[in-house]
Amino acid sequence: MSYVDEVLELVKKKNASEPEFLQAVEEVLNSLRPVIEKNEEKYRKEALLERLTEPERQIKFRVPWVDDKGQVQVNTGYRVQFNSAIGPYKGGLRLHPSVNTGIIKFLGFEQIFKNSLTGLPIGGGKGGADFDPKGKSDREVMAFCQSFMTELCKYIGADTDVPAGDIGTGAREIGFMYGQYKRIKGLYEGVLTGKGLSYGGSLARTEATGYGLLYLTDEMLKANGKDIKGKTIAVSGAGNVAIYAIQKAQQLGAKPVTCSDSTGWIYDPEGIDVALLKEIKEVKRARLTEYAAARKSAEYHEGRSAQGAGSGVWSVKCDIALPCATQNELDIEDAKALVANGCFAVAEGANMPTTLEATKYLQENKILFAPGKAANAGGVATSALEMSQNSERLSWTFEEVDSKLQNIMVNIFRNLDDAAKRYGVEGDYVAGANIAGFEKVVNAMEAQGIV
Ligand code: NDP
Repeated sequence: MSYVDEVLELVKKKNASEPEFLQAVEEVLNSLRPVIEKNEEKYRKEALLERLTEPERQIKFRVPWVDDKGQVQVNTGYRVQFNSAIGPYKGGLRLHPSVNTGIIKFLGFEQIFKNSLTGLPIGGGKGGADFDPKGKSDREVMAFCQSFMTELCKYIGADTDVPAGDIGTGAREIGFMYGQYKRIKGLYEGVLTGKGLSYGGSLARTEATGYGLLYLTDEMLKANGKDIKGKTIAVSGAGNVAIYAIQKAQQLGAKPVTCSDSTGWIYDPEGIDVALLKEIKEVKRARLTEYAAARKSAEYHEGRSAQGAGSGVWSVKCDIALPCATQNELDIEDAKALVANGCFAVAEGANMPTTLEATKYLQENKILFAPGKAANAGGVATSALEMSQNSERLSWTFEEVDSKLQNIMVNIFRNLDDAAKRYGVEGDYVAGANIAGFEKVVNAMEAQGIV
């Protein structure tokens, strides 16, 4: 049996109840086969893949807090410190009722390669809790965030582990968590990224993941002789990534016509009105029904588009699809609908939004496919730029950060394109991203001995 198959079997046995983690490991290890096979005996002896798939540390903790009725609530908090070979652990905090060990491990595992791809010195980690900020008052969110940080602060620090936002964790939550960290530790340091501009945040961090997604998509299109100008784009999600992806797509001359949240989706053939979307999602924290009510050209469809099955936003005719909501939101039926409608490129704004089966189908049908660990790396890259600014005690201008972000995304595409070519899988950007990310991490792991 090949070394990759041995390790896949072992990982399945050890993590049987964690389907998302298994899915991520399967995708990465399968695409690393050409690299592993070149040095199979050496890697087997070093147990390199066993070490790569086992987190350095997993922390799970109780988060008690009191709701507005005086009732005590208890959530479970997580931080998985996956790999610190190339830098301090870095990765977001997800607050969503679906959060469990397997989801945090899949995100932490992906983060290792994503962070490596940015070319910046950051290791892989991820955390969160099964807390749902939706429908909670500001006081309840603060009570939760303070309790969460009271425990988490024992394990993080500006030079050890630097969390950021993710689903459910935006500027409000980061602010409450930062305040509690500072209060307990007495340190004014860059321990979290995604901070507000008045207390150490970076300009362009809010926009970074969505903007970066479009910079990479644009580069991928150019490399394949296509132009983003005038193209119709289907986007899912209506959160941080989706909003700024839509904004940048418009700036580049494309027309995004859809967005979605967990209860329904919008089709707006005249193009999404970003200012209206921001007002509804960032200010009012309301549903997308309000978008349709305020805009004549828009249709609202009930139903969770992120559940796939060839319905929702992926049933709309488009040239480019940008899934920006959550994992496994684009399944095989969706992939078939996209191909049948003439879509020629898919770039993942969310983490692992496309199922393995759908990815395979899209690639077999010659769709340009950019995986999330490359396409959405602009967020963490700009978080690393926020860390640099905090260390320097300086703030860079929006243009400075944005131009660094643009360079990083172009380089990521070139590196993964080059890695795919070097290993004879030209155009397979999934393999290219995994190989390019893996090479640097493995080099550092081997240099540091058995740790
Ligand atoms: P937000 O919480 O800002 O937005 C998430 C959006 O997706 C919302 O519109 C939400 O709907 C929808 N959504 C979330 N979960 C589900 C679900 N289970 N079913 C259907 N819809 C859902 O998160 P972000 O925009 O920050 O993150 C989106 C994705 O991008 C995630 O996969 C995240 O890991 C990834 N990512 C984010 C980065 C960042 O910098 N923010 C960086 C890299 C990756 P509703 O409004 O109803 O909640």
